[in-house]
Order: sequence, then structure tokens, then C-alpha cells
Amino acid sequence: TETLESRDAELFAAMKGELARQREEIELIASENIVSRAVMEAQGGVMTNKYAEGYPGRRYYGGCDWVDIAENLAMERACKLFDCAFANVQPNSGSQANQGVFTALLKPGDTILGMSLDAGGHLTHGAKPNQSGKWFNAIQYGVRKQDNLIDYDQIAELATEHQPKMIIAGGSAIPRQIDFAKMREIADSVGAYLLVDMAHFAGLVATGEYPSPFPHAHIATTTTHKTLRGPRGGMILTNDEDIAKKVNSAIFPGIQGGPLMHVIAAKAVAFGEALEPGFKTYQKQVIANAQALSDQLIKGGLDTVTHGTDTHVVLVDLRPKGVKGNATEKALGRAHITCNKNGVPFDPEKPTVTSGIRLGSPAGTTRGFGEAEFRQIADWIIEVVDGLAANGEDGNAAVEAKVKAEVEALCARFPIYPHL
Ligand code: PLP
Repeated sequence: TETLESRDAELFAAMKGELARQREEIELIASENIVSRAVMEAQGGVMTNKYAEGYPGRRYYGGCDWVDIAENLAMERACKLFDCAFANVQPNSGSQANQGVFTALLKPGDTILGMSLDAGGHLTHGAKPNQSGKWFNAIQYGVRKQDNLIDYDQIAELATEHQPKMIIAGGSAIPRQIDFAKMREIADSVGAYLLVDMAHFAGLVATGEYPSPFPHAHIATTTTHKTLRGPRGGMILTNDEDIAKKVNSAIFPGIQGGPLMHVIAAKAVAFGEALEPGFKTYQKQVIANAQALSDQLIKGGLDTVTHGTDTHVVLVDLRPKGVKGNATEKALGRAHITCNKNGVPFDPEKPTVTSGIRLGSPAGTTRGFGEAEFRQIADWIIEVVDGLAANGEDGNAAVEAKVKAEVEALCARFPIYPHL
């Protein structure tokens, strides 16, 4: 009967601090969002106690009737949301979803072709320090120098040369839409599987604001916590029954044990929310807000990679103002605007420095910001960056303090989690 507060004051204080941070700071990390109270309730509920190795109706533990309902709901809703036949909702993360696909369809030593990290890809698509880069012969493609768009000619050339068993589309810092039909054409030309990792833009796909990976992809993976606005986790989707069977065995017993049933319950709630009409309105606003943010940053003298965005992602090129990503992330943090430093394509700086920051609109849009608020945020970013440009890494403390006060005033007008 003890509350968290009375049981563990130290941890409770950290949680209170994090709640205050989320309430009072503008969250621009493109991969984050603010889940509903219902999603949080499901994740914080009794299903956390349950072991349920296996799949609904085929468990290795007794007492699974209620968690079976939760997992079936999550699977049914996922299939409806993405108009596909099979869903595995057990991956504990986006990384494990990808690992599950590799375990299902590849063998160590096989060749894979994915987007390089510095061009906007994800670690799990064959980057050297990741298992995908260590256990496979990972070949990497990038973007074109002239416009920073995905270089499909290079992908076709690399595919012909290296004959990959799998080609991976998707990434973590790609502001524009990907041509899945073209990727499939290239995959077919060498007999490769096409995996679409839609982790970042899955929410946009769910409402038709971004092209669906299907019918082009043999298989798709996603995280559930970014634009999709669910709990932290992963998911695998396909229309191919044979692939689905291999994926199920790859996730359990292949790479995971007991599924996180409380997270799966929260996934079901989030997918239910995503099926409601309001989610489409939300995703349209996510894109409009990102476009307003990009436009206003360009007006203020910064550049954004591809000079705009089709998605929730804005990749800011700081070089027009001569400042670095690491210093900018810190200075914006002092002004209570949270983002991450990020390399821009062909970045001359080290990954620990970078010439860019990555911004995203999903979290701000959830709390109710519209285009006017995102243009205001862009103006604040310009003010802080100008402070860095004028004064070096320490920035302009007076400007940062002024922006911080204005940020907090804006956040107070758009409260989150009033019940907490
Ligand atoms: N795939 C892509 C494209 C991502 O952006 C991410 C997350 O950053 C992942 C996979 C990995 O997800 P997780 O952090 O849940 O392992």
C-alpha cells in the first residue's frame, strides 16, 4: 500500500524532476512524443507481472487469458492501421525488431545494404559499431551531394556489385519521402528482400500522410514511441505468411524471452488511439508544424537539409551561422529547448561535434502547438544561435535567460499531464 513517494523518495524526486522538465521545456527531439494518460496507465498496470512466452493461444505459461486479449488487440489494431496481414508486437525496441528480421531472414556473413549513419540511416542498418555491422557484410549507401536526396542510382550500383540478401530503406534523419517502389525494383533486380524500417514516420504512414511501405516491402519494422505516439517498443509487419512464421520464431525463442505484456497492452491502447480520426488531424499538423519551423529557420538565416521537409523531421544545417551542433544543443538546453546535435550529410565535423541539430514536431504538436508556436520557436532558436555566433561557445547568457522565460510561459499555456 506504500506509494512510490513514501517508498522511494530518491527515485520519486527524479520522476518529479523529469515531469517538470517535460512540462516546462520544449521537446524538439524528433524521435520523442508525449503519450496519453491511457497509454501510460496501461504500461504502468498489472500486466507487468505476467510471463507469457510464446504467442496468444500458444503460451509456455498458464494464466495467459487476459494478456492474450491484450496481445490480440495490439496485433489486430496494428494490421488495421497499416493495412497488412501479420504483426508481431513483441519486439522490446526498434533495434530488436530489426534484429528479429535479420535472425528470421539472414545468416551471419550475409550481405546487407543499408543507409549509412552519417547520411541519415540508423545504427542497426549496418553501422560498424552495431551488431548489424559486425555480423553481416554491411554495405552502405548515402545521399546525393547536389541535393542531399537518397541516391537511388548508387543503391542500384551497389546492389549489382555486392548482391545483397537484404536492402534496408529508412533511417533516423531523413526529412523527405522515400520511394519504396524504386527500392523494391532494385531489390527485385538482385533477388534481395526489401526491409522498410519506418520507425520515424510510422505515425504518418498510419494516417496516409506518408506513402505506405506496402505492397513494396517484403517486411517492415517500426518503433512504437515516435510519431506513432505509443509506449517505447518495436513491431514487425508483413503480408507474407512464410516470412511471418520465420519472424515469430526469430523473436521468440530466437532473440527474446518473455514479452513485456504491460508494454504490449500500452501498444494496443496507442494503436486504438491511432485508428481514431483525431490522429489524422494530429499527423497533418505534425507536418505543417515541421514545415513552418523549417521555413522560419531559413528566414532567420539558417539552412535545413533539403531546404524543407515532407515529414516531422527538420535537419538544421548550422554552417551559415558558423556554429557547431554540440554547442548549439547545449545553448538551446540552457534556454529550455531540447534537441540533439546531428551530423548533416558530408559533415566535415566529428560526430561528437557536428554541423547540425535535428529537430522534430511530434511532441510539441501533441501538447497543442500550431504553426504560430513553431515559428516562434524558430525565432528563439535563431536568437540563441546568434548569441553563439557572436560570443563563441558560452553564448549570450542574457538572451538565453530571456528565451528560457518565454519558453516556460509558452509551455504553461499548453499544459501536459494535469492529473499528475
Ligand atoms: N530504426 C530507426 C530508423 C530508428 O530511428 C530507431 C531509433 O532511434 C531505431 C530503429 C531503434 O529503436 P530503439 O531505440 O527502440 O531500439
